[in-house]
Amino acid sequence: MLKRLYQLLRPTDSAAPTIIPESEHHISKHDVSSAARKVISNLKQAGYSAYLVGGGVRDFLLDFHPKDFDVATNATPEQTKAVFKNARLIGRRFRIVHVRFGREVIEVTTFRDSPQQDQPKKDHNQSDKGILLRDNVYGDIRSDALRRDFTVNALYYDPEDGTIHDYTGGLKDLNERQLRIIGDPDARYKEDPVRMLRAVRFAAKLGFSLTSETEAPIREHANYLADIPPARLFEEVLKLFISGYATAILTQLREFGLLAYLFPGTESYLQEDDPYYQKLIFATVANTDKRLRNNKRVTPAFIYAAMLWPSLHARMHELINSHKVPPYEAMQQAAQGVISQQLSYTAIPKRFLIPMREIWNLQLRFDKRDSRRAHQTLEHPRFRAAYDFLLLREEAGEQLDGLGMWWTSFQDANAEEKGKLLKDVPSSGKGRQRRRRKKPRKNNNSGDNGDNKQS
Ligand code: ATP
Ligand code: MG
Repeated sequence: MLKRLYQLLRPTDSAAPTIIPESEHHISKHDVSSAARKVISNLKQAGYSAYLVGGGVRDFLLDFHPKDFDVATNATPEQTKAVFKNARLIGRRFRIVHVRFGREVIEVTTFRDSPQQDQPKKDHNQSDKGILLRDNVYGDIRSDALRRDFTVNALYYDPEDGTIHDYTGGLKDLNERQLRIIGDPDARYKEDPVRMLRAVRFAAKLGFSLTSETEAPIREHANYLADIPPARLFEEVLKLFISGYATAILTQLREFGLLAYLFPGTESYLQEDDPYYQKLIFATVANTDKRLRNNKRVTPAFIYAAMLWPSLHARMHELINSHKVPPYEAMQQAAQGVISQQLSYTAIPKRFLIPMREIWNLQLRFDKRDSRRAHQTLEHPRFRAAYDFLLLREEAGEQLDGLGMWWTSFQDANAEEKGKLLKDVPSSGKGRQRRRRKKPRKNNNSGDNGDNKQS
C-alpha cells in the first residue's frame, strides 16, 4: 500500500520531461565524439529516435571527460544492428548493440520498460530473490528513464537540436551534487544489487553525496551481492579500483559492508588490529589512483596481487611457522587456497591470474641476490609490477632490510655498480640453501618477512 502510494506520488511518473534548450547549458555537440554523433544521426535517418544518455551527458555537465558514450534509441537491437555494418549484438541479461568505429565502441541500448504481468520469460525473468536475470522488455524514452539507476544518469541529450530531456529530476540533483536512485530504493537494489556498487563509485567519482533514501538500504542489502555471478563482479571490481577514486571508494565499500562480498579475506584482515594490512591496502589504492592521475597503466593483476596479499601472507606464514613448510611451497599452497576462495566471489580471468602469481613469486625471489638470479629477476616480464609491490610492502611497514632500496639501485646501475651491489649483499641474501636455524616465531602475521630468507 505504502509502496503504491509512493509510486503514485513520485513526481517522475506523471511529470512531462523538463526540456532544457541548447542556450541554457554548456554541452556543445562538438564535445561528443564523431562516432557517437554518427550513430545518433544514422539511427535518426533510418526513422528512429536516438539520444546520448548516461555518463556522457552527466560528465559533460560536470566538466569531466566522459569515458565512453552510450546511446539510447527506440530501435530494437535487431533494427539497430541492421542500420550499421560495424555492429554486434551482445548480452543476454541485458541485450545491447556495440557499434565499432576504429577503437571506439558506442553502446546502443533500446529504450526499456517495466515488465507487464504476463511477460514471456525470454524477455523478462527474475530469480527467486527478485534479481533480474533478463531485462529486455522494450518501451519508450519515459519508461526508459525510470528503468535507469540514478537520476543524474538518466539525462538524454539530442546533439542535433542541443536539447537535454530530464524525466527524473536529474538536473536538480546534479546541481545539488546528489546521487539519487530512481524509484523505490529497496526494490531497485534488490532487482540489481550491483547498483549499490555503482552508487559508491559514482558518489566518489563525482564528489556527490547519496541522498538518505539512496544510502539507507545499502548496509542491510549488501549481502544480495552474494547472488551476482563472479564474472560480473570482477568487471565491477575493475571499475571500482581502476577509476582513479579507489581510495574514497574503498573507504565507502568498507563503511557499507560491501567489501566483504568482493574480497571477504581482505575485509577480515582489515578488521584486525595489525596496521600492516590496512597500510598495505590503502597504500595500494593510493598508488593506483596516483598512477591513473599520471596517465600510467594499472593492471588488474597488480590490484588483485595486493588485495589478496593479506590472506596469502597470513596463510603462508602460518604454513611456514606452524607446519614447517618451506617458503616457496608455502606460498604455492597458500595461493591455491586464497584463489579458490576468491573465485567464488569474483572471477579472475587467466590472463590476470598468471601474472598475479608471478608478482607473488617474485616477492620471494627478490631476496635471492646471487649474480645469476638477480639478473634473471631483473629480466622477468613482471619485474616492474613486482618491484612496485615490494616498495608498497615496505611503505606499509614490512621490515625487509632495505631490499626495495637495493633493487632501486640495482636496476639503474651500470655493470660495475651492479657488481659492487651484488658483492655487498649480506650472505643471507645470496640465496644459498640453508637449513632453518632459528626457531620460527609463532603465527607471524606482522609482516616480518625474515623467514623468507632462510630457503
Ligand atoms: P561510466 O561509463 O562513466 O562508468 P555510466 O553512467 O555511463 O558511467 P554505464 O555503465 O556506461 O555507466 O551505463 C550507461 C547508463 O546505463 C548509465 O548511466 C545508466 O543510465 C544505465 N545503467 C547502467 N547500469 C545500470 C544498472 N545496473 N541499472 C540501471 N541502469 C543502469
Ligand atoms: Mg558509460
